[in-house]
Amino acid sequence: MLQLKDPSLLRQQAYVNGAWCDADNGATLAVHNPATGEKLGSVPLMGAAETRAAIAAAHAAWPAWRKKTAKERAAILRRWNDLILAHAEDLAQLMTAEQGKPLAEARGEVAYGASFIEWFGEEAKRIAGETLASPWPDRRLLVTKEPIGVCAAITPWNFPIAMITRKVGPALAAGCTMVLKPAEATPFCALALAELAERAGVPAGVFSVVTGDPAAIGGELTASPIVRKLTFTGSTAVGRLLMAQSAPTIKKLSLELGGNAPFIVFDDADLDAAVEGALASKYRNAGQTCVCANRIYVQDGVYERFAEKLVAAARKLKVGNGAEDGVTQGPLINEKAVQKVEQHVADAVAKGGRVLLGGQRHALGHGFFEPTVIADVDNTMLVATDETFGPLAPLFRFHTDEEALALANATEFGLASYFYSRDIGRIWRVAEGLESGMVGVNTGLISNEIAPFGGVKQSGLGREGSHYGLDDYLVIKYICLGGI
Ligand code: NAD
Repeated sequence: MLQLKDPSLLRQQAYVNGAWCDADNGATLAVHNPATGEKLGSVPLMGAAETRAAIAAAHAAWPAWRKKTAKERAAILRRWNDLILAHAEDLAQLMTAEQGKPLAEARGEVAYGASFIEWFGEEAKRIAGETLASPWPDRRLLVTKEPIGVCAAITPWNFPIAMITRKVGPALAAGCTMVLKPAEATPFCALALAELAERAGVPAGVFSVVTGDPAAIGGELTASPIVRKLTFTGSTAVGRLLMAQSAPTIKKLSLELGGNAPFIVFDDADLDAAVEGALASKYRNAGQTCVCANRIYVQDGVYERFAEKLVAAARKLKVGNGAEDGVTQGPLINEKAVQKVEQHVADAVAKGGRVLLGGQRHALGHGFFEPTVIADVDNTMLVATDETFGPLAPLFRFHTDEEALALANATEFGLASYFYSRDIGRIWRVAEGLESGMVGVNTGLISNEIAPFGGVKQSGLGREGSHYGLDDYLVIKYICLGGI
């Protein structure tokens, strides 16, 4: 059973209007450890009525919160950041227990998650407007920025803290209030964040967490005319649905959706560095990240050598319960996720793919899958078009730069892309040619709080992190001041 230094961080109630509460009808939703199947606890199975109450509380709390100075809000966010860091070990334990990632990765995510609260608190002090050259002698033109209002957030299970803080950080910093619906698989991290927000002095109603039925809660969050903005991270299918549901009330939207990242290794690449990057990008979080390398394109001349080196490196990954020392690959989130990887492997093999490593469920059972590398993959296979979201590295072969770019861009997604090369001309041409919101050159790790994170095409709208991420919670007001 989960032992926390501060047991009150394991909250099994939702947090609405500054109070811990159950579903109106008392129904609950169980939360399990994906590594063991053990039940960790439960959270309220809430629906539309509780969501309406949370929205009303956010609406009531908004005037006082927006009236605070940026410096006052920043001080509260700073305390929240400090509390998250002070309880980093407990939060990491909680995350590994409900999500499965290795503890070292969970600790990294807690620090990464806190960084959004710190960054946006600081950045809020720098929100500024402008004055424009007036075409009239007796009038002055001003542009100000204001918080958009009540915001709703819906988040996925793969980064149970960071996907929340990079939404609630800028929202609260900008002077907005927020109602969050976390993923059903990972509500405990969200509720622990709410507990720490309360301790940091975030006023009642400014940040509420509603757990339960996705469709009922999402339906209310999107239908409500009070909610002025919806920020969502998750699959493209659900993003599309939420976008349609938001149309009648014309909400501002930030959508961080699916990816299908190409990872290109050119023949002039530092192969060891490329293998290290591919390993980090592909197998981190057992391959369950939206910016994961999903399609690895390797130039003909270095194909076999890269494949050999990648297999040797992936073979060293230690699969197991993320809470155990030395484990580098935890379980997948659930049975459905394992079946998807199996389906991608079977499809590739049926069409001529060569399994170089793994390819099967791991002997540990549950959600564990072997680190897998498949060679001779081509565009007819499922892995070319569909995000695997698991520890499967498919190796495609290409000959020319033009071919690599065409293959990389042949997808409806456009979140992250990566490539390895040491030729400066090629680096510019390829970086400019890739149709994606983010490009990693000679690195497999790109995310931080300072840089804009987001996609193009069907990977979504808007940016998170960076000063652009704050703009998404602000509206522009033009004031024309006459009588001068
Ligand atoms: P998902 O879309 O199934 O779920 C995401 C969230 O949406 C969860 O909270 C879920 O409860 C909720 N949801 C599901 N159906 C809903 C409905 N009808 N109404 C309202 N809410 C609903 O995605 P997932 O499986 O949890 O996450 C994996 C996906 O998320 C992948 O496609 C991945 O690429 C994407 N992702 C994207 C980013 C990014 O920043 N672009 C980051 C992480 C994950």
